[in-house]
Amino acid sequence: MHPVRVRFAPSPTGALHIGGVRTALYNYLLARKTNGTMILRIEDTDQTRFVPGAEEYIMKSLEWVGIKIDEGAAQGGPHAPYRQSERKAIYKQYAQKLIDEGNAYYAFDSEEELEAMRNRLKATGSSLQQYSATTRMMMANSLTLSESEVAQKLAAGSPYVIRLKVPDSEEIELSDLIRGEVKVHSSQIDDKVLMKSDGMPTYHLANVVDDYLMQITHVIRGEEWLPSAPLHVLLYRFLGWEKQMPQFAHLPLLLKPDGNGKLSKRDADKAGFPLFPLNWTDPNTGELSKGFRESGYLPDALINFLAFLGWNPGTEQEIFSIQELIDSFTVERIGKAGARFDILKAQWFNQQYLKARTNDELAVYLLEALPPNLCSKEKAAKICGMLKERVTFTHDFATQARFLFEAPTVYDPQVISKKWNDDAVNVLTAFSEALKKLTNPTAEVIKTTLEQVTTSLNIGTGKILQALRVAVTGAGSGPDLMLSMEILGSQEVITRIQRAITTIKKI
Ligand code: GLU
Repeated sequence: MHPVRVRFAPSPTGALHIGGVRTALYNYLLARKTNGTMILRIEDTDQTRFVPGAEEYIMKSLEWVGIKIDEGAAQGGPHAPYRQSERKAIYKQYAQKLIDEGNAYYAFDSEEELEAMRNRLKATGSSLQQYSATTRMMMANSLTLSESEVAQKLAAGSPYVIRLKVPDSEEIELSDLIRGEVKVHSSQIDDKVLMKSDGMPTYHLANVVDDYLMQITHVIRGEEWLPSAPLHVLLYRFLGWEKQMPQFAHLPLLLKPDGNGKLSKRDADKAGFPLFPLNWTDPNTGELSKGFRESGYLPDALINFLAFLGWNPGTEQEIFSIQELIDSFTVERIGKAGARFDILKAQWFNQQYLKARTNDELAVYLLEALPPNLCSKEKAAKICGMLKERVTFTHDFATQARFLFEAPTVYDPQVISKKWNDDAVNVLTAFSEALKKLTNPTAEVIKTTLEQVTTSLNIGTGKILQALRVAVTGAGSGPDLMLSMEILGSQEVITRIQRAITTIKKI
């Protein structure tokens, strides 16, 4: 068997959808598993859909999630260039070969003529209104016009397209690694445009030519490309490359969280979750689409989540490092059924990955959200260690640590009405007095001190704990209170307790 060569072939038409990241991931896993090669090819032949910045966005996104490219537009490689707009001359010769051998033809029909053809077919009740074996002989093309008429038109620079001459009546078969045998009757396929007058190929021609020239062994792509696959099979055959045809694997659709239909940006916006790896601002509309990174997801958690959208290892294990994914991945274990995009599961993965990070690693997320010099690295690490069981997103550290940097100005009224009483005030007063005698007390020492105070006043610690919490943090619940007080420092705790006692009295 040839070494595996796979490609991710996005079109730079906007932000890379998360489904595209999954496609890139599955290609990457197969490449790494087999010591093969991962290629990034930029399919930018449709200039009308080209969006500036999209190519850079794609590359940055792949980099962020840790998908490394071996050959590509940025890396170069033996089959450069890897940007299709730079390969125009290559496609032209294959389009010519198809024409010369009678498998493609020039078509000169205007938009109006095409429209009239479709209307005629509609009027006769035909279900397929397409340029095909049934209609091509009624149109203006090199099959119906004389050779000299064609030559004249071409010489005069009349606009034309090159169309594939799809065989009349034939069952086209292909074997898909995920979907099994797929059969499509050629009457269902129209004479697809392969190239336009400006010499720019369409997706179909460029894709097949490049997959062949770049010696791609496996085409792993989204299910939306399955209807194009029979056409690609025809191209391989007409170009004489049938033996080198890659194996196809069409990935299952990503479904809405409720499993009801295809996942769309509208669904994601409505439910408030991101659908792109990084933030993206559309250069034409200025519209911002939220990214997973900016929404507080870790790249390895996202990768673990995406790996399971359509693939499973066949065991109960859910947490997989990228190396474990590489080791366990097989195309055979990709399912046919659509994969439900369960954002809660993505959040669960994120929680697991946050928990598994060291405190020092997590400190970065807190520090980047705080004003410079407010908090040392050591202190940030300690705070993150305290909070890491409680957070879902990277930005939760800053939100949940806020009380450590800002003294409360309001106090949870429910806790006050239930728990703020004379006993509580007595304990808090005595406790703050006791704290004055300590320097840099640890959580352990603070706890013992509090217990000594409650014992001497004969009041259960449990009875006043919430009052203490509300005095120090303003809230009725939160992370470990003793550790929070250690981090705050005894002086700050004393100040907060005293302020609470005077403020709450006035409420
Ligand atoms: N350029 C196509 C896309 O944007 C590639 C499809 C394929 O992988 O063949 O998805």
